[in-house]
Amino acid sequence: MNAPNKSGWKPEMETALPGAEAPTHTGNRALMLEEPLIFEIGSSDTTGVDLPEATGGTNRLGGMERSEAIGLPGLSEPETVRHYTRLSRQNYAIDLGLFPLGSCTMKHNPRLNEKVARMPGFADVHPLAPQGAIQGALAVIHELGEWLKALTGMPGVAMSPKAGAHGELCGLLAIRAALDARDDPREVVLVPTSAHGTNPATAAFCGYRVEEIGATADGRVDMAALEARIGPDVAALMITNPNTCGLFERDIHRMAEAIHAAGGFLYCDGANFNAIVGRVRPGDLGVDAMHINLHKTFSTPHGGGGPGSGPVVFSEALAPFAPLPAVRLAGGRFHLVEEETQVDHGHGQSFGRLAAFHGQMGMFTRALAYILSHGADGLKQVAEDAVLNANYVLRRCEDVLHAPYGASGPCMHEALFGDEGFAEGFTTLDLAKALIDEGYHPMTMYFPLVVHGAMLVEPTETESKAALDQFIGALRSVAERARAGDPALKQAPVHAPRRRLDETLAARKPVLVWSEGE
Ligand SMILES: *Cc1c(COP(=O)(O)O)cnc(C)c1O
Repeated sequence: MNAPNKSGWKPEMETALPGAEAPTHTGNRALMLEEPLIFEIGSSDTTGVDLPEATGGTNRLGGMERSEAIGLPGLSEPETVRHYTRLSRQNYAIDLGLFPLGSCTMKHNPRLNEKVARMPGFADVHPLAPQGAIQGALAVIHELGEWLKALTGMPGVAMSPKAGAHGELCGLLAIRAALDARDDPREVVLVPTSAHGTNPATAAFCGYRVEEIGATADGRVDMAALEARIGPDVAALMITNPNTCGLFERDIHRMAEAIHAAGGFLYCDGANFNAIVGRVRPGDLGVDAMHINLHKTFSTPHGGGGPGSGPVVFSEALAPFAPLPAVRLAGGRFHLVEEETQVDHGHGQSFGRLAAFHGQMGMFTRALAYILSHGADGLKQVAEDAVLNANYVLRRCEDVLHAPYGASGPCMHEALFGDEGFAEGFTTLDLAKALIDEGYHPMTMYFPLVVHGAMLVEPTETESKAALDQFIGALRSVAERARAGDPALKQAPVHAPRRRLDETLAARKPVLVWSEGE
């Protein structure tokens, strides 16, 4: 800590910390620099810019001039730059190491994508620019949409949703519009326990009553329970496939037939498309609507690194209800169709708009660059390698970590473990904190809910065998310590800038505004 400390804040110097025997004057530990809040290092009395007091002229603010100090910390430019650079060094990022966060598909973002996205013709495009001036950008949106339709085998696409959950909303609004169009007031959406948490949240947000369908012992939808419940009051079945246990829902054809026979629709959460892209077309499985997370399957930085983008593909039955705007190719030119009256493009019964403009242009250019650089064969290999990597992690760790579905065959793109076999009092949280000491962002924890102390590991296809072996070594080591009940595990992380924070207090009573003396 190089700056004066005005709030009484002290660097942590617990005796258990390595280095406590040799505390430093600054609180820094070699290149690991301590960093207080910007309010604690800056002072509202000082300012980074030194302008002479204005003289002469007349004050024309008419009594609107500031009467109190603005309360912002004053820092010089180098102090400001250093503050944010130090904080950035405490981040974990996919560019630093393996990011095994299950369900999130934290894969490498090829730099080629970034180069393409930064081309001025794409980067500087304005949403209100005349269409004649942005034909290239509209062509990108159109071509990406065509790829998504081809990869999923579905005839309609909406490009404007801005994230996966936004795409779910888009899909359910289209389903509602289709039901409204035939005066069919259905109230229920069925969601299996193996579906992602955003699925029931979206259905509830749309005003549907959510009913849960249980799972079988092998981690898949309980077909008997599902078929018993499907009826004329069910608007849709929302499944995640591959599901959140990292398993393919093999009965998806039967599910589609059952829900269609009852007059409902099949929504599939496609955020896990990375496991099947190029291998399976959801349209062939009977899916009516599916969102695709461009920021997962088709790279593009996310998780603090960039915005999401969640285009939705639609079956023949739902395509007319897709939202506007939509890009259409007619007469050799691309048109951004904004009005519902333009029925000839197949959106005659559009449910309306989800976003002010056409969607996330920067994500579109990155995703299309990714798709074109891989090609159809490369995308197929993405899925195969993602599944291979996950199975490698599963099989290399299942003797020290309980794999609840390990016996029922290979997994898809994620390896799922539970806390069975840990010593009394040792938890998944302890293991995750110890992984931080090993230099890894922890995996997804306590999700899915169907597995006690769940740990969901998604390595993605972009990790080499050497990177996986190192991660597996770390995971096995912390798992063995949890099984043996190593008391030091309870202290982890000891090498991180902060130890175990009170996450419950932070969530329940977040302190969002700094005030002097707190
Ligand atoms: C990430 C994810 C979502 C939500 O996507 P966002 O872009 O975060 O809104 C939904 N379902 C699954 C299975 C996911 O992994």
